Amino acid sequence: MRKLLLVAGLLLVAGVTRAQQQPDFSKVEIKVMQVSGNIYMLEGAGGNIAASVGADGILIVDTEYSPLAEKIQAALKNIRVTDKPVRYVVDTHYHGDHSDGNAAFGARGATIIAQENLRKSLENGSAIGNGPGGSIHIQQPAQPKAALPTITYDDHLDIHFNDEDIRVMHFPEAHTDGDSVVFFSENKVVHMGDEFVRYGFPFIDVNAGGSVQGMIAACERVSTEFPADVKIIPGHGALATMDDLREYTNLLKDTSAVVGKALAEHKTLDQMKQEKILAPWQKYSGSFVNTDAFIETLYYSLTTMKAGGAK
Ligand SMILES: [Zn+2]
Repeated sequence: MRKLLLVAGLLLVAGVTRAQQQPDFSKVEIKVMQVSGNIYMLEGAGGNIAASVGADGILIVDTEYSPLAEKIQAALKNIRVTDKPVRYVVDTHYHGDHSDGNAAFGARGATIIAQENLRKSLENGSAIGNGPGGSIHIQQPAQPKAALPTITYDDHLDIHFNDEDIRVMHFPEAHTDGDSVVFFSENKVVHMGDEFVRYGFPFIDVNAGGSVQGMIAACERVSTEFPADVKIIPGHGALATMDDLREYTNLLKDTSAVVGKALAEHKTLDQMKQEKILAPWQKYSGSFVNTDAFIETLYYSLTTMKAGGAK
């Protein structure tokens, strides 16, 4: 653990410049979009927020960054001219661009709910990364008590709120080891957190127990268990459909198969990069997760016995 943190620390500068550069929060505007009935999607900086707004008050899924809490609160207040408070926050996962606002909403009276592994990651801090030798490293410091969920669950949890059963489900070893997928059953809307993103090759926190196998399983579970016309709020990017999710699932499966084949042929990670084995998917290469970083992600997903062990 100490060794890993040291390595992460040395590589921190490279990781941060490439990854989650914090925006100028004073310039961020919160965009609100009605998804279905009383369910809304909010976009600002960081991950997408889902909101259930109604007679019981407001429940939000994810909180973006704490400096934005005031603006998010104001945007929520404009929906249906409600002055009801945010009563519940559900975190999809522990990364700062989704959970940094926890303490700010907690201070305003919200109860924070999450999968139990998420609480441990927030409490202890975490060396976020795409595998033990991967090029993406972001050190997330331990969070104060005010940012921690007060209600945690193991497998699933139902919240009966605004005349709807809201199901919070643990999808294991996918983007992290503590992911929640949140399904608004009456409105047929699902928030998938960073198990589904639309910025190109996804980041997978292999260091925190995530894996591409878990990501594929999560996507397939959503496409088989949920209604065909479900509206999907991705962790990042525009509102999506099942067709979009299937295309993304195929990307994960096809690229994993290529790296899996290279592993079977005893190729090293460097050889895979040199041979540009993911060249057919070059259009998915992004500034955060470029093609080489995604090869690393798949390599460490497929070779780490139990990804969580790396932490
Ligand atoms: Zn994330």
